[in-house]
Amino acid sequence: MKLQRILPFAKQLLEQAVSKGDIVVDATLGNGHDTAFLAKLVGDTGKVYGFDIQEQAILNTRDRLVTESLLDQVTLVQQGHQHIDKVISKEHKGLVSAAMFNLGYLPGGDQSIVTVPETTISAIQQLLSLMKPEGIIVIVIYHGHEEGQVERDALMTFVKTIDPSVAHVLQYQFINKNNHPPYIVAIEKC
Ligand code: SAM
Repeated sequence: MKLQRILPFAKQLLEQAVSKGDIVVDATLGNGHDTAFLAKLVGDTGKVYGFDIQEQAILNTRDRLVTESLLDQVTLVQQGHQHIDKVISKEHKGLVSAAMFNLGYLPGGDQSIVTVPETTISAIQQLLSLMKPEGIIVIVIYHGHEEGQVERDALMTFVKTIDPSVAHVLQYQFINKNNHPPYIVAIEKC
């Protein structure tokens, strides 16, 4: 297939937005795949702030980063991404070039612990202030589970109301596949 699949497209968006030395956010660490990807993009002069509410996600991500010698450029935070504004240091405010959200539950973990619309939307609102112009938020929406459908609906309602002078909002989705495949919403700050 020539059309870019969902996760490669998410990575391509991040690659376009992030340079060495940048400040970025992984809003949902999980098993740390995106964290390692972002840590490589920013290099050892940059910084990734990574958030997850579960200790297991912090441990899994730390292991991955240690194995790949990437831990030095990552700050792991065991708090919800809704606390992002309090966590990011003063000198990094207004400089964030990208953020990644992979919604839903920790793969291989407790499927009852999921991202929820109130905190996801709060984090996006805070990021819109914390990012620099042309900074990008990439959100991969998993809506195969019941809570995922609730989160998808709330999130889509919210992103459609973002003032176009504040940010551009893109939806990238295969629309003829079964079983609610994940899709992307990307938000670029003006
Ligand atoms: N990006 C991950 C990877 O590469 O493996 C997958 C992320 S997983 C789909 C979603 C994660 O979001 C779970 O680990 C869950 O604990 C976490 N999560 C749920 N609510 C959260 C919140 N308020 N803030 C940060 N993380 C949260």
